[in-house]
Amino acid sequence: MKFENSGGIVRNEKTNGRETIADRAARGRAPRKTKFRQKRIAAILPILALVGWGVARGRAAERRVTQSASATLQPADWLIAGPIVVTMDPHRRVIHDGAVAIRGDTIVAVGRAAAVEARYKPAHRLELRDGVLIPGLINGHTHAAMTLFRGLGDDENLQNWLHKYIFPAEARNVTPAFVREGTRLGMIEMIESGTTTFADMYYFENDVAEVVKQAGMRGVLGETVIGFPAPDNKTPAEAFAYIRKYVARWKGDSLITPAIAPHAIYTVPGPDLRESGVLSRELHVPLLIHLSETKKEVDDSLREHHLTPVGYLNSLGVLAPNLTAAHCVWVDAADLRLLAEHDVGCVYCPSSNLKLADGMAPVTKWIAAGVPAGLGTDGAASNNNLDMMRQIYFAAELQKVETMNPTAMPAEQALALATIDGARALHMQKEIGSIEVGKKADLAFLSLDEAHGVPLYNVYSQIVYALEASDVKDVFVGGKPLMLDGKLTTLDVPAIIAKARECGRQVLRSLHVAEPPATN
Ligand SMILES: [Zn+2]
Repeated sequence: MKFENSGGIVRNEKTNGRETIADRAARGRAPRKTKFRQKRIAAILPILALVGWGVARGRAAERRVTQSASATLQPADWLIAGPIVVTMDPHRRVIHDGAVAIRGDTIVAVGRAAAVEARYKPAHRLELRDGVLIPGLINGHTHAAMTLFRGLGDDENLQNWLHKYIFPAEARNVTPAFVREGTRLGMIEMIESGTTTFADMYYFENDVAEVVKQAGMRGVLGETVIGFPAPDNKTPAEAFAYIRKYVARWKGDSLITPAIAPHAIYTVPGPDLRESGVLSRELHVPLLIHLSETKKEVDDSLREHHLTPVGYLNSLGVLAPNLTAAHCVWVDAADLRLLAEHDVGCVYCPSSNLKLADGMAPVTKWIAAGVPAGLGTDGAASNNNLDMMRQIYFAAELQKVETMNPTAMPAEQALALATIDGARALHMQKEIGSIEVGKKADLAFLSLDEAHGVPLYNVYSQIVYALEASDVKDVFVGGKPLMLDGKLTTLDVPAIIAKARECGRQVLRSLHVAEPPATN
């Protein structure tokens, strides 16, 4: 049963009938370390199936015909069997020895493996034991291409970091090619740590969209509007013109959601903030912004506008159900009422807030006020990684300290921030965020085979407090595998890393900083 899939057909085609490890395992004579080996084989067979798809198609089709004549099995593209399925559905079902069937980009069945297998005949079958299958993680706020500025100007305050390092480095280096390389680098890290959807705010977002689409990730990709000459558009008016074309190109895409990203209230003039909101509603696209990140931002806003940053955006008509605001560290009760009233999603970025000493976002208060709460990494320049597994850990731990209450942010709630609640913060909860029939097949499998993964008493605790990004082994987005048994399927990792090193040297030269001794 374990290996009777189209992978088996490919195996025979490819080996001309020679017995392989897979054959031995399938016949119950697996070598030592059977468990590991079988998992690996089960993961590899689908790759072979994909590679040999053209060869296998004829026979797979024959097989389907045979079966449809003998049984009422429904076709599926993938059937993932064996893991503990942590659904994050409204009932928070956790299914041991579970299975998920996928057709096209959609989940068509979730349940006990025996029940799902009795109903579906998949083209590809993936056996995943000793681990958990979770909804793909949602990074609600990042700047993927800023991976190329990772570690630049660290240990500065936000204003110095932006104005002394990041803005000059961006002005001298950020081109479409640079953005493509940085986004690819970011996606490697995101996929490897279980992220399937990310919300991006950057420049040349049309180029970002192209590489995200090629890699098969899901993105809410916001083109920046900012009140000074940016690498792509020199004025907000130019940015709005760019956005119209960009949205026209990507609106309705299955993976890419084009969005508008006014940077922040302190970098975008009021009329352009207002216009961003108007345009987002006209084009029916999301709006992404940084909001109430530092105390200085609030103090300046109170001085200049006699309103908090949230109140100021409200006065400009920008608060709306299509808005997702990153940070929201410095928000008071009136701000939270406004955010909840307008269904504005807020995204907690604990690592970034820690590193820049912004303060602790009162996330338990957001939730109590009814504000949709998500979780994000922020850019790799202020974090310095795009690892959502670390973020769920920080979220749970920091909120306990923030409130001095160990029950304030249970592990289940922390995982929700990165899954179903994160989807709500991006207003995408109907499509993603949980493992439910009808939702997109965005999934991540985490192994429980390492020492830090055993024993298992509470699956949420294990995921949030014990597991790490390196435990993520398999990732699907929209029913397509982007990582199988730790190997990326759509991104050329060595080539992208080599390019990133090259880009790093270019950034140092542009800032007239001596290169560190070569390490690569
Ligand atoms: Zn940011």
